[in-house]
Amino acid sequence: MKKIEFNDLGAQYRHLKDDIDKGIAEVLSDCHFISGPQTVELEQELCKYTGRKYCISTSNGTDSLLMPLMAKGIGPGDAVFVPPFTFFATAEVASLLGATPVFCDVEEDTFNMDPKCLEKEVERVVKEGKLKPKAVIAVDLFGQPAAFPEIEPICKKYGLTLIEDAAQGFGGRIQDKKACSFGDFSATSFFPAKALGCYGDGGAVFTDDEEQAALLKSIRVHGKGSFKYENVRIGLNARLDTLQAAILLPKLRAFDAETEHRNWAAQRYSSQLKDKFQVPVVRDGYFSSFGYYTLKAESEEQRTKIMAALEAAGIPSIIYYPKPLHLQKVYEPLGYKEGDMPVSEKLCKTVFSLPMHGYITEDVIDYICKTLRNI
Ligand SMILES: *Cc1c(COP(=O)(O)O)cnc(C)c1O
Repeated sequence: MKKIEFNDLGAQYRHLKDDIDKGIAEVLSDCHFISGPQTVELEQELCKYTGRKYCISTSNGTDSLLMPLMAKGIGPGDAVFVPPFTFFATAEVASLLGATPVFCDVEEDTFNMDPKCLEKEVERVVKEGKLKPKAVIAVDLFGQPAAFPEIEPICKKYGLTLIEDAAQGFGGRIQDKKACSFGDFSATSFFPAKALGCYGDGGAVFTDDEEQAALLKSIRVHGKGSFKYENVRIGLNARLDTLQAAILLPKLRAFDAETEHRNWAAQRYSSQLKDKFQVPVVRDGYFSSFGYYTLKAESEEQRTKIMAALEAAGIPSIIYYPKPLHLQKVYEPLGYKEGDMPVSEKLCKTVFSLPMHGYITEDVIDYICKTLRNI
């Protein structure tokens, strides 16, 4: 068998090569490298896809999370509620603005923010009176939207801005409502390894609020006013390259077929592994884009053994994520200790993700399942 890739971007490129090459060549001959027509077209297509009114393409997923916090004027003394079982950027953006991330543990089966923990933490912060509760960033981990039907009323009740971190969620949905359409803002990433990725860094912010959309567009270009050399607020340089937009357009056209394929692959994995492992749980009425396919081992020792056996068989596997954010060194001053977020801590010790992408084949999945079953 040829080398097994964790995420086979080469297979995708070979599949879409003609359209991607043509798109790149057009940008090179037009020389409109920043905010070119392909960027505008991509934003329109992303609005159509997600059902959101406004899409602001950006330089990466992290800036896409940062910009709504900036638009809302969040800063020192403010609490931003985030899950600890996610990529660092989810909490980092709060800290970048001098606000304080407040961690809320996740659900054991979906890995997403537990609405009950969120409400408990908001009430604790209110009672303590030291920080002002301002925003919630809920993550669509591994492709499944967070529990927005339960999280949205909590945000309404306490007057919190809700931001969907859809960096891994693009393509997921709850009933007919697509990822990137939940909350006041949604942020996604087009980092190459994401389900919809470009060939460099890229991202987008979404909102239905016209005023906020205008604010985000100003923040994207150094807080510009009516023209580029009038500055009315502090902003960023957070634009998406035209080249990346041209690469994303054909990838977006192929995205639904790839998402169907990833769901087929997830089902094929789960049907062969469910009697031996805890396979991913997708809630009733939810649809996961399955950017990642993640299993749980029974213990840290068992996981080490499994991953070594996979490696010996030429199968790549990755731990997303080995350390919960509340226990990261940089957050020591926040005073969290082991045992504070038991579900996230246990997940960090037991999860591992298997190869998953829109072009994975039956024989690869069956070989991986056979290897796992024989451990
Ligand atoms: C990838 C990712 C980000 C950051 O996106 P970048 O484009 O790498 O800045 C934020 N949140 C989550 C959950 C991610 O997976």
